[in-house]
Amino acid sequence: MARGFHVFRLGAALMTALALGLSSAAADEPAKQAFGAVKLPTAGPPTPYGFYAKGCMGGAEALPTDGPTWQAMRLSRNRRWGNPAMLSLLEKLSRDATKIGWPGLLVGDIAQPRGGPMVNGHASHQIGLDADIWLTPMPAHRMSVAERESLPFTSMLEKGKFLTIDPQHWTPAHARLLMLAASYPQVQRIFVNPAIKKKLCESWTGDRSNLGKIRPMYGHDSHFHIRIFCPAGASDCKRQVAVNAGDGCDKTLAWWFTSEPWAPAKKPPNAKPAPKPREVMVSDLPKACAALLNAPSVASERMATFGGPSAYTDPASYALKASAKLPVPSPTSARP
Ligand SMILES: [Zn+2]
Repeated sequence: MARGFHVFRLGAALMTALALGLSSAAADEPAKQAFGAVKLPTAGPPTPYGFYAKGCMGGAEALPTDGPTWQAMRLSRNRRWGNPAMLSLLEKLSRDATKIGWPGLLVGDIAQPRGGPMVNGHASHQIGLDADIWLTPMPAHRMSVAERESLPFTSMLEKGKFLTIDPQHWTPAHARLLMLAASYPQVQRIFVNPAIKKKLCESWTGDRSNLGKIRPMYGHDSHFHIRIFCPAGASDCKRQVAVNAGDGCDKTLAWWFTSEPWAPAKKPPNAKPAPKPREVMVSDLPKACAALLNAPSVASERMATFGGPSAYTDPASYALKASAKLPVPSPTSARP
């Protein structure tokens, strides 16, 4: 009985701590669990701490689920949070895309409310300066919450072939969208599948001065990944080295078409199994991140929505009227 009572007391204390938002004050813990559990960002100015693949962010804002030229996907993941510099770039890209024959963006993961590592999915996306865009054009109707969860990804690769673009899915508009995204000065790099990079190298006849920003990477055959530079004044944001000069259509790309990147790591026959990599703990991230986990939240997602509270749309409000026509701009000047 006494023991049971003791457990009850502990439970009550924990509940109180949780209610006060002090859950992780006491001990170190795996960073992805800690950051994955937080539902809302901190208040205050937008601040990236650390590196794209090892950090966190304060003062994030949410991309509205819907804009005139975008729809956010997989809303249940709660990963529409980013630095306003990223969100304004997405807004601009979505608008500019409609002028080159791409009807609007389907936006995938940006970051968690306070950034940090994720339970599943990404190595980066930790400081609000990375975003995934689907290589599927936005449909002409407003999708329901359920449709946004279940719409399958469309790969640009031919099934059963090695790194080959599928001409059934890939179009010149895909190329224009990627080159448009690379053209903004705040974009540091873009990740695409090696086959997509090769296709651009072979087919892009316009200005190639930003082609070097588009980098080959595993996966990324149904979405591309945009990374922007640390915003001005973000002194705790760790910069990434610049991409090499040139268009990148060189031996660094050819390497992806050898067996080397795809071969299992060679080990000597009697080697012990490699130790499991140690889990990233909150204490492995920049110091500010532990404090950030325990800082008070903004009042609501609505209050932290990019563009102001009036830009917030409650997903429940359109779940019922799915298929309502959006004012989707018609593709213009569909140049080849
Ligand atoms: Zn990504």
